Amino acid sequence: MILAAWEHGEDAVKHPADHLPDETANAIATHFAGRSMRVAAGSGDLAETLKARGLHATEARQRVRRHLEQQVGSNPDLVALDAIVPLLDTQLAVFCGDPLCEAELRRHERFTLVIAGQDPARCRFCGGSDNRRAARRMARLCRDEGKRRLLVVGGSPGTHQELVDLLTDQLELRVIEGDRARTRAEAERDLEWADLCLVWGSTILNHKVSELYTDRHGSTREHVLVIRRRGVAALCDEVTEHLVRTHRPTGRPG
Ligand SMILES: [Zn+2]
Repeated sequence: MILAAWEHGEDAVKHPADHLPDETANAIATHFAGRSMRVAAGSGDLAETLKARGLHATEARQRVRRHLEQQVGSNPDLVALDAIVPLLDTQLAVFCGDPLCEAELRRHERFTLVIAGQDPARCRFCGGSDNRRAARRMARLCRDEGKRRLLVVGGSPGTHQELVDLLTDQLELRVIEGDRARTRAEAERDLEWADLCLVWGSTILNHKVSELYTDRHGSTREHVLVIRRRGVAALCDEVTEHLVRTHRPTGRPG
C-alpha cells in the first residue's frame, strides 16, 4: 500500500496561525493591535486564556501582559478578548522547556514572544511529544534542503500511521510496506519520485524489497539513506543528523 499525503492536515486546524506566512500573520496582528477596544473583559478572562495556553506562572503571564500593553496601548485586562486573542495566536509561542522547541519557534519572525510554559502538552512546537518534536524538526530541515518528497521503505503499520499523521502537512510522504511484493519497475518509479528515500533496516522489511531500493547499480541511489534505529523519533533524528552532516552552505561570490 502506498500512502501519499500533501499539505493542510490536522495540524493546520489546531494551530492555523502556524501555517500563515510571517507577513500575513504580522498584517493580522497589526490590524487587531490598532483597535484597542475598550470593552472590559475583566482580568480573570485574560488570566484564564493564558493559563489555557500553558502559562500557569504569574511571572510568565506578567511578561505577556507587558508585551500586550505595548501592542494595544492600554491595560490588556481592560481590552476585549476578541482583540487580544488574534495577537496571542500570531505572536505568542509557548514551549515545553526543551531548547530544541524554543530554537525552532524563534526561527519564526512573527513569534515575538517565546515563553516556557508549565504544561508540555501546550508546547506550540511539539505538543509534549518526542515523536512530534523530532518529526517537525526533520521536516523543517528537509524543506530547507529542498527535499519535499520523502519515501519510507519498511516500518510497521503503526509507525506508518504515525508518520503520516505527523508529516502530512509538512512534506509529501510515501510509505512502502516492507512485507509486500514490489517490482523493480515500481521501485524505480518510487526512487524517481523521491527527494530522499529512507530504507528502515531494523523494522519489518524483506530483503527482496529492500534490495530494490539499496542496490548500487542505478544512478538515482545517492538519495537513499539506510536507517539503523527503531522508532519514529529515532528515524527522524537519524535523517536530521544526515541533513546536518551533508549540508553545504551556498557560497557567496566575492
Ligand atoms: Zn516542545
